[in-house]
Parts: sequence; structure tokens; C-alpha cells
Amino acid sequence: MIDFTFTEDQDMLKTAFREFIEAEIAPNAAKWDEQDLCPVELWPRMGEIGMLGIFIPEEYGGAGLGHIERIMVIEEIARYSAGLAIAVFTHHLAMGAILDGASEEQKKKYLPELCAGTKICGLAVTEPGGGSDFTGQKTTGVKDGDNWVINGRKCFITNGGPADITVVTAVTGQDDRGRNQLSCFLFEKGDEGFGPGRKEHKMGLRGSWTGDVIMDEVKVSADRLIGAEGAGAGLGMKQIGEIGRASMSAIGLGIMRGSLEESIKFANERILYGKPISKLQAIQFHIAEIRTWYEAARLLTYRAASLKDKGVSAITEFALAKYFSVDMAVKASQNAIELMGGYGVMTEYPVERFHRDALASISSGGTTEIQKLIIAGDTLRSFKA
Ligand SMILES: Cc1cc2nc3c(=O)[nH]c(=O)nc-3n(C[C@H](O)[C@H](O)[C@H](O)COP(=O)(O)OP(=O)(O)OC[C@H]3O[C@@H](n4cnc5c(N)ncnc54)[C@H](O)[C@@H]3O)c2cc1C
Repeated sequence: MIDFTFTEDQDMLKTAFREFIEAEIAPNAAKWDEQDLCPVELWPRMGEIGMLGIFIPEEYGGAGLGHIERIMVIEEIARYSAGLAIAVFTHHLAMGAILDGASEEQKKKYLPELCAGTKICGLAVTEPGGGSDFTGQKTTGVKDGDNWVINGRKCFITNGGPADITVVTAVTGQDDRGRNQLSCFLFEKGDEGFGPGRKEHKMGLRGSWTGDVIMDEVKVSADRLIGAEGAGAGLGMKQIGEIGRASMSAIGLGIMRGSLEESIKFANERILYGKPISKLQAIQFHIAEIRTWYEAARLLTYRAASLKDKGVSAITEFALAKYFSVDMAVKASQNAIELMGGYGVMTEYPVERFHRDALASISSGGTTEIQKLIIAGDTLRSFKA
């Protein structure tokens, strides 16, 4: 049976999140974008209502729900602020690495505060040498007795500035074919030699901190290794491939829904030739296109999340969703701008921000070309020639 409806509990949850988001996030989204401010003071509030630990089991302080509910949170936030949505999902991303890779002791130590929002976290993988070349990383982790010494620089790291806890990948050896083996380490704010570097100034997704994270001879004990030594590539790729791409798809959904709702509002209020422009067929076509793209992306995104909740590997499904949803968010926000005429590019209306946010979403979670490579590889294997 294929069921495309949310359960009653999921609908109630969405309503509760919407109330919080409409009161706390919607009125401030333009200000955060203008000032490029990440509202870290909201973390304990979001923790309290369960947004941060939504997919984390109750024993570690979470709500014990699934990835459908997690996606819902990101879509609802991104409807008003895609910038804050990327900061929140990056918090999920690092929590996912801890949940999947950490020891019981590490989970009990770190996850409850991250669920409560009294601490913020991030995941630092990308380096200046190229994010797509995942195993070509240059950050090194070298054993020194019982400790590890880490050196390197990560770039474009969301939450890199405010994070109390950062999960970082480093090269800790080579396999017998000479390929880099990565391991994941956990750093805490205040670790000597570890900290944020320069902050980037982005065209979109502002309202989230993005920038460098520097490790200069950082010495950490063995209990900061997350997962087995050499298992970091798998652990990091899993989070990016599932939580990262699912969340970027949900950001695309939020932008499309925002573009649709703002278009409808404007089209009903703007009078031309003595009647609202929503009566013009060309305007209706813009609206019909956005609706179609939104609905199709929604099916791809929630289907992939439901597969993950069933424990099925959904790497290709998340790649399909991320590619389509972000691409369509670019088009949908452009449609909204065109529909509004000159008003569409005025900062008084949010659609120009939606368009900047959509464009800034293309590379995060892996570029469009990388998604197409995953999709093509799977298609060539799975479809009959
Ligand atoms: C707003 C934002 C937030 C981010 N947050 C984080 C974060 O929290 N943590 C983190 O670790 N990273 C983060 N990133 C980094 C992001 O994951 C990378 O930007 C992404 O992986 C691409 O890497 P790159 O920018 O170095 O581009 P590159 O890898 O240098 O790619 C350059 C171009 O080459 C193309 N290309 C690369 N390889 C291939 C190939 N095999 N075939 C065809 N074309 C190819 C790409 O598609 C792209 O067009 C963030 C990025 C942004 C923009």
C-alpha cells in the first residue's frame, strides 16, 4: 500500500511548530538576512519544543521521532528563513554522526545538551582543496601515545563560529591501495589550537554562520574519536548523503512554498486593468508551475525520508530529491519575482531573498553535478537496457 498522507500526530506536530515559527522566526527572518545574524538565542527554545532532538531516541534527551518529522521541521523553518534552516539542520547533521558513530558514553555525554539546545554543534568536512573530493582531504590526525594531534583547515562550515561541539574528519592513515582513510573527531569550544577562522559573506542563506574552522596542533585524548579509526569517511558521507541532502531538499520545499504563498498574496492584491492580476492567465501559469514543482519535490523528499525511517538505504532517493528540489526552488523563486514585476526585486518583499537563498543552496550537501553522478550511476545499474 502507498500512503501519501501524514498521520494525525504528524499534522498536530506541524501545527505546533508552525505556531512557534510564525511567532518567533517569520517576523525576524528579513532582519537576520540583512544583518547576517544567526539567532543562537533561539536554540534553547527550539530545544524545549523538540525541534533539535526530534529524531534522537528519548534515552539521549530526544523526541524519539523519525526523519519525516525532522524534514517537517526544516521545511517549516525554511518557509520563512532558509538561513536559520541550514543552521538547524547542520546541528542535526553533527548529532547524526554522534548517534551513528559514538560510544554509549559519548552519546550520553553530548546528545542531551544538544537536544536541549544548551549547546550548538556542527560538522566540518569540506576543505579548500575541494568539497567534492571527499577523501582528498588534507587535515591530518596523528597518534601521539594515547592522544591524537590534529592539524588542518576546514572551509564553508555552517555553525563553525557559534558551535560548542564540532565533529571533524581527518586523514589518519592509508589503506593497502594507498587511499586516504579518514576518522571522525569531536572538538569542544576552548580546545587549545581549535577554533573558528574567517567568516564568509554569502549572497544567500544568511542568518547562518559559514566560515573556516582551524586546527593547529590540537591535542585530544582517544575518547574524542567518534566511531572506529578509519571509519570516518563512511560515517561522514552517510550524514551528508542522508541528513544533509534530505535537509537541503526540505529547504527547497520551504523556499517553494514561500514563493507560492507570496505570489498568491501579491496576485490577489495587485490591481491592473481594474482587477487583481490573479485573474490573468499568464499569472495563473506562474502559480501553476510553482505548485507543480513544489508537489513533485515534496513527494521525492518525504518518500526518501520515509525510506530512511524504514531503515532502507536511500542515497539515490535523497540525491534525486536534493537535485530536483533545489533546482526547482531557484525556478520557483524566479517565477515569483517575475509575477511581481518591479516589486519582485525590492527588498520590501521576501521573494528576492528566497531567490538568493535558493542559489546559495546549490552546492551545500553536494553540488548538482555530484547528485547527477549518483543518480546516473544508480540508473545505469538498475534500469533495463
Ligand atoms: C552555504 C553553505 C554551507 C555549507 N556548510 C558546510 C558544512 O557545514 N560542513 C561542510 O563540511 N561543508 C559545508 N559546505 C560545503 C559544501 O559541502 C561544498 O561547497 C560542496 O561539497 C562542494 O565543494 P566545493 O565548494 O569545494 O566545490 P568543488 O568540489 O570544488 O566543485 C567545483 C565544481 O566542480 C564540479 N565537480 C566536482 N567534482 C565533479 C565530478 N566528479 N564530476 C563533475 N563535476 C564535478 C562541482 O559540481 C562544481 O561545479 C557548505 C557550503 C555552502 C555553500
